[in-house]
Amino acid sequence: GEGWSYTIAETPMLIAPDLAAYRIDAEPYYRPVGDEITVFEAAWKHRLPVMLKGPTGCGKTRFVEYMAWRLGRPLITVAAHEDMTAADLAGRFLLTPEGTVWHDGPLTLAVRHGAICYLDEIVEARQDTTVVIHPLTDARRMLPLEKRNELIPAHPDFQLVISYNPGYQSAVKDLKESTKQRFVAIDFDYPAPALEAEIVMREAGTDPALARTLVAIAACSRNLKGQGLDEGASTRMLIHAGRLAAGGVPLEAAVHAGIVLPITDDADVRQALGSAISACF
Ligand code: ADP
Repeated sequence: GEGWSYTIAETPMLIAPDLAAYRIDAEPYYRPVGDEITVFEAAWKHRLPVMLKGPTGCGKTRFVEYMAWRLGRPLITVAAHEDMTAADLAGRFLLTPEGTVWHDGPLTLAVRHGAICYLDEIVEARQDTTVVIHPLTDARRMLPLEKRNELIPAHPDFQLVISYNPGYQSAVKDLKESTKQRFVAIDFDYPAPALEAEIVMREAGTDPALARTLVAIAACSRNLKGQGLDEGASTRMLIHAGRLAAGGVPLEAAVHAGIVLPITDDADVRQALGSAISACF
């Protein structure tokens, strides 16, 4: 093995045909960092809604994929964006040559047939989406489809998971207190250096020394947070730089393309980041 334990999906997959496309057949690589698996499993047992908190690119999405596989449930992921409305989640009537037909949105699919629904960066979505989520996240476990005048009781295996980046939130764009309080929260952050190096090695195919260098570079960039940088380099960025370097791009160029350029458009900040990083080589 890889030095950490493998687990076999415990439930035989009883998955509705509508959800066949969402089942996860192969075990996703996920390196546990704390007690997140235990907490998620306990939440799942009671079908409690879960909020994954943490900066972008630190493993939240990979964790949900892993948990869905481990629990033997299909996973429907929705990346929220600022134009996303309740109808994008719930569904809408579509005009077809045969007339108007209702089309279930991703959330409705999950609610009807029993999937884990992962709403990534939910805070980006318009406020009216919370109206849809609220009756699903309390004892009612109902999804109101206003347009169809229908109230769908959630399938026993439905679970709602959202991600939330506390660093990005402003007063105007934040989850309402009444929404936040419906979720069990699990905190995510960049993994400790040795763990993060292990992940970079595995995901980018680098050797151990290169992985450690990239993790040291990340630490430098994370120290610049607040000094022109909203966030330091994420684990995802280290993997990108690592892939470039493992593919033959000289390290400095790989770090420039994988980390420095994407993270900021400001020439001065780039300069500062560049020299901080050079000190890590
Ligand atoms: P987020 O959803 O937090 O924005 P992701 O889950 O997409 O971030 O993580 C970005 C990448 O980092 C993943 O594709 C994966 O390669 C890697 N990664 C981060 N944390 C872990 C971890 N604990 N185990 C395995 N891979 C990880």
